[in-house]
Amino acid sequence: MLLGAAMAGQVVMAQVANPKDSRQKLRQPAAPAQPAPPAPKKDERPQPSAKPAPAGAAVEFKHYFLENVKVSVANGRMSAECNGLPNHETGTFPNRDNPNYILQQNYRWSIPTQPQRASKPSATPMGPIGVAINGIPIFNYKNASGRDAVKGPFAEVFDSCCGHPDPRGAYHYHQFPKCIKSPFKDDPTQHSHIIGYAFDGFTIYGIRDKDGKPPTDLDECNGHFGPTPEFPNGVYHYHCTETFPYTLSQYRGVVSAMGGGGGGGGSPPQKGPPSKAGPPFKGGPPPKKGPGKGF
Ligand SMILES: [Zn+2]
Ligand SMILES: [Zn+2]
Repeated sequence: MLLGAAMAGQVVMAQVANPKDSRQKLRQPAAPAQPAPPAPKKDERPQPSAKPAPAGAAVEFKHYFLENVKVSVANGRMSAECNGLPNHETGTFPNRDNPNYILQQNYRWSIPTQPQRASKPSATPMGPIGVAINGIPIFNYKNASGRDAVKGPFAEVFDSCCGHPDPRGAYHYHQFPKCIKSPFKDDPTQHSHIIGYAFDGFTIYGIRDKDGKPPTDLDECNGHFGPTPEFPNGVYHYHCTETFPYTLSQYRGVVSAMGGGGGGGGSPPQKGPPSKAGPPFKGGPPPKKGPGKGF
């Protein structure tokens, strides 16, 4: 994913454009905006305040990133910094199916803390569309040529944790990243836990709905409104699915006022051949066999 690496060099500064409350029921995109629901419980996202926080001041906001990600919150956005190395074992790269090394990155993902519904869904871009709670970027279903990277004749090769490095050495996922949930286990009878954030700020969950089965009411963005373990009063959220599009192919929310693919940043990825930029990151389960180049 060449484009993905390029996008990771951007820092999105724009603030959300739509002040409407994000907790409105989003399952019905054609419906007019609903009034804000009752006051949230303490573990929910902070609500828009009539008195904005002063510039530079941190606001109370609970995030779900893991310990390998350094998070700061200011001005309605959270900044999540990490080095791009996953918190789990990986396959050995390069290998015969993927010529890329896993290289350290310098990520600073920027994500709105109060996601705002957009007037209509927008397509996710190539490259990072969100970030997992271990700081690793999540891509949509597309490979470098825009085809289904996960299943079918153009599927690419992933390690047993469902990730692989791109030509810049950026390890990433295109599907449910099952190894990041090691701090907790999905109860097969319960709704999944948060596994990441899309760049519109809406959370991304695993594959299970509240009964433990795959959700049946996902919208065109692969999301729905409902209670989750972290937001028992209900929240709009995306799901990973075992079927297309696996993560999300469209954003339900506002990514930025510029309308671009948000998040990411920090220093540009390393230049030069991977063998000179750093040692390969090895260890862990072997990659699955199959066609593809691992972009
Ligand atoms: Zn759900
Ligand atoms: Zn890829």
